[in-house]
Amino acid sequence: MNDRAVLRARGLRKEYGKGTGLVRAVDGVDLDVAAGETVAVMGPSGCGKSTLLQLLGGLDGPSGGEVWLAGRRIDQLGERALGRMRRTDVGFVFQAFHLMEELTAVENVELPALLAGRSPRAARRRAVELLERVGLADRADFLPSALSGGQRQRVAVARALSNEPAIVLADEPTGNLDSAAATEVLRLFERLHEAGQTLVIVTHDARIAATADRLISMRDGALVDETRLTGGSSGQLGAFVGLEG
Ligand code: ADP
Ligand code: MG
Repeated sequence: MNDRAVLRARGLRKEYGKGTGLVRAVDGVDLDVAAGETVAVMGPSGCGKSTLLQLLGGLDGPSGGEVWLAGRRIDQLGERALGRMRRTDVGFVFQAFHLMEELTAVENVELPALLAGRSPRAARRRAVELLERVGLADRADFLPSALSGGQRQRVAVARALSNEPAIVLADEPTGNLDSAAATEVLRLFERLHEAGQTLVIVTHDARIAATADRLISMRDGALVDETRLTGGSSGQLGAFVGLEG
């Protein structure tokens, strides 16, 4: 595997059901994501974006094909090894935040580090630092229910970074947010990108897609188009998503 590729998929497939009910959710995907690259994935509802992300991050196993993450083939790992890999090499951000409601912001953020075996002191130190980084140091002891949607998602991003993952996978991270909150989260992803974090973001938000190095378009389980955006080609993106350049 090319050492610059943090993530690589080859011939990746996922089928649900069988017979006449068979759904080819992911249907032969080849993908390389280089270190430090941000890739946006766009496509209509039901085209397989979430399934693809789950396969790439080892949340689910493929029906066929290969996934390589941080130099290691993960599609054939057993449940234990896969769990370890997910905790240390991947950070997930979901549309619905998926925070633990009974834990405070800082407790949510330190949880992955604790699960990965870090000492409570080290985990807490890292969590406080991450909350500072996402601009929520003053909300560390708040429960998620006392935070706005944008703040919750920033806590979720901080949690995703807890173990310094090789890659962050985000599934419609602004899908549940109003426009102001979406902007906060968008800025955060931009800063992560600038800091060199490797990112794959599934999004319907053209503004998020515009921050990516590459925009990939998905239809019926397959990647059908790719646009390279690096180099200030926002006019190109405008044409692609049907906005004014
Ligand atoms: P997207 O995220 O692009 O909206 P999904 O990956 O959620 O698409 O779904 C792709 C296809 O796979 C859809 O037809 C969906 O109904 C189907 N699908 C997704 N998850 C499951 C599942 N657990 N069981 C059966 N079908 C599923
Ligand atoms: Mg989805």
